[in-house]
Amino acid sequence: MHVRNTKSKSLILETLKNSKQAVSHEKIQAELGESVDRATIYRVLNRFCEEGIAHRITGDDGKQYFAACLKCQGKEHRHNHLHFRCLNCGKVECLPNEIELKLPAGYRPANFNGFISGHCPACA
Ligand SMILES: [Zn+2]
Ligand SMILES: [Zn+2]
Ligand SMILES: [Zn+2]
Repeated sequence: MHVRNTKSKSLILETLKNSKQAVSHEKIQAELGESVDRATIYRVLNRFCEEGIAHRITGDDGKQYFAACLKCQGKEHRHNHLHFRCLNCGKVECLPNEIELKLPAGYRPANFNGFISGHCPACA
């Protein structure tokens, strides 16, 4: 059981890292086939988010997407980047630009969920 879980974790992590875009639960399930069950995928993804390995993106289509973190270490996520969903090809990407948040005095951001939809360079 333990071995299986560890294997599932590394398979899911590999899928996230190899993907050039953010992936949904369905996409991961499709990549891994029947070898990893749905509940395990959910559990592992949640764990990755807690551990600063991946982050969750809630799209304007109401779906959740996951992307590997590049610079996060430990449990603290450090990124203020926007996400872009292409209305034509459906691709969801992390944009490389970091956004500087300017908030009124006294506000401390813990999460940032910036989301844009439109057309990606390939589809524009
Ligand atoms: Zn992160
Ligand atoms: Zn596109
Ligand atoms: Zn991202």
